Amino acid sequence: MTWENKINQKLKTNKNNILVRNINVTTYYSPCYIQVLGKNYCNFSSNDYLNLSHDSRIINAWKKGAEIYGVGSGGSSYMSGYTTAHEQLETRLADWLGYTKSILFISGFSANQAVISTLLNKEDIIFADKKSHASIIETCVQNSAALYRFKHNSIEDLNQLNINLNTKNKLKLIITEGVFSMDGDMAPLKLLNKFSEKPTRMLLVDDAHGIGVIGKNGKGSCDYQNIKPHILMITFGKAFGISGAAVLCNNTIYKYLRQFSKHLICSTAMPPAQAYTLLKSLDIIQTDKSIRDKLNENINYFCSQAKHLSFQLLSSRTAIQPIIIGNNEQTILLSNKLKKDGIWTNAIRSPTVPIGTERLRITINAMHSKKDINKLLEKLHEYNNK
Ligand SMILES: *Cc1c(COP(=O)(O)O)cnc(C)c1O
Repeated sequence: MTWENKINQKLKTNKNNILVRNINVTTYYSPCYIQVLGKNYCNFSSNDYLNLSHDSRIINAWKKGAEIYGVGSGGSSYMSGYTTAHEQLETRLADWLGYTKSILFISGFSANQAVISTLLNKEDIIFADKKSHASIIETCVQNSAALYRFKHNSIEDLNQLNINLNTKNKLKLIITEGVFSMDGDMAPLKLLNKFSEKPTRMLLVDDAHGIGVIGKNGKGSCDYQNIKPHILMITFGKAFGISGAAVLCNNTIYKYLRQFSKHLICSTAMPPAQAYTLLKSLDIIQTDKSIRDKLNENINYFCSQAKHLSFQLLSSRTAIQPIIIGNNEQTILLSNKLKKDGIWTNAIRSPTVPIGTERLRITINAMHSKKDINKLLEKLHEYNNK
């Protein structure tokens, strides 16, 4: 066996297979319109819910940040990569969300990895929602702590698992998401928070899809459900329109992560121009309610109209609106048909989602016009009747 053989063998099992993943080279030509291979599409697959990635205020901040700080940080925070922009952003995020501290990471993936892999070891227990994001599950699987996945949003299942295990004195990390990335539904945060109140338990909420769009002034799912988890992870690649992430926590956890997380110690800090620009995103999220209103208006409009389709819809009231098709072939077929009509949606196949729940993952954006949404609905309606 050679490396070449090993790699080719693995690729071959995937070849001609419906599961092959393709990358599309995309050009944006206006906020929610993209061009792929010369063809124009209305984009219903972006997580940039408020369209801040194309907001002129953000673009100008990026330019100004680059002028003040240069574009790269030049090293990890422990070298000389931590600037006043990083410090300001961490302070403002913590103040905004009611935490003592926050720590910036270059991505949500790395933030989840850092928290889980730095805090837990083989004596410990992880309880994670079955539908948790791959960045959570990957890390949990690789970690030496025992991983138990409770039924999606089921506090009963979590309780039962905990009773069956009878591990009173062990330390437990409970993990869930504010808004689930594939279903668009929300976790029962109040109940999970109640469960996590004991000193041997800690709750981690990944609010990648809630921050900026839900709660008072976009404070996210935890604000919306009126809880404060021990650790809150937010990302900046979605509603914030840029990229990166932050972990919000108390001073003890902060000090611990700063000391022990290799993701912080051995990795180049976020570009300072980016931290500077994120401050502007935060300003807009905190003060410009009109974009969020527009998003909600669009979500409500889509939901009210989509009711009339005979596709199976989930009960989501967020920007993530899955349409369940039920098998990989049909899902891809529908996605391709929509593409022919100039509509870009993501076909989400099994095993990314459970077999039988393969879906189109539609995401609604503040900048979609009624006309865009109507066109999507009309096309769905057409295919529905064929
Ligand atoms: C997108 C996402 C992440 C990863 O964040 P990145 O900043 O894109 O790495 C983590 N968790 C959830 C739930 C997500 O949707």
